[in-house]
Amino acid sequence: MKRVVLLLLSPALVLASAAPVHCINIAGSLYSSLSNAVEVSRTNAELVSKRNADFVISTFDKPIVDSFSTAWRRVGNGTLSEESVVLILRMANGGYSARDLGQTHEHKKFTFRWHPATIAIVHTHPNSSSPKPQEEDLAVADKYRVPIFTITSRGMYVYDPTNRKITKVMENLDWLEISKWKGIIAKHQ
Ligand SMILES: [Zn+2]
Repeated sequence: MKRVVLLLLSPALVLASAAPVHCINIAGSLYSSLSNAVEVSRTNAELVSKRNADFVISTFDKPIVDSFSTAWRRVGNGTLSEESVVLILRMANGGYSARDLGQTHEHKKFTFRWHPATIAIVHTHPNSSSPKPQEEDLAVADKYRVPIFTITSRGMYVYDPTNRKITKVMENLDWLEISKWKGIIAKHQ
């Protein structure tokens, strides 16, 4: 009887121990970090307290700021009518990471699937639009309870659903440069 139990258990144990290694080695760092982010969001209720503009700004680092530049270049530095979206995600290791959502080729909007580990949404506005978060942006931020940032040629703005205010974070294109962020990030820590 004991033998039967062992035989039934062993395949399951092998799968459980092999799965994470397989994921990291073969799927690559992006996929493993995304799956980590999903995992943490399911178990981490304190995520809600991270979803305010001041905290989100304190997480910005060079890779996150670089993802803003990539998103901005993709929309022709604001000359195209398309928009780009970058999500700021909380990762399983306690860090924060930008997830660039690529291109959808939509006119002045961007449709994407909500990611549960999101602590903020950052998106471009075309040069022909208002640089501030618009009504639809505010509705998304209020619904998902995350701050929504705009990155534009006339500054970076944020709408924070915790105090329902829109504030200017950076002037003009200053948000493209990590050197300009240093003082602002320190102030929010
Ligand atoms: Zn917008």
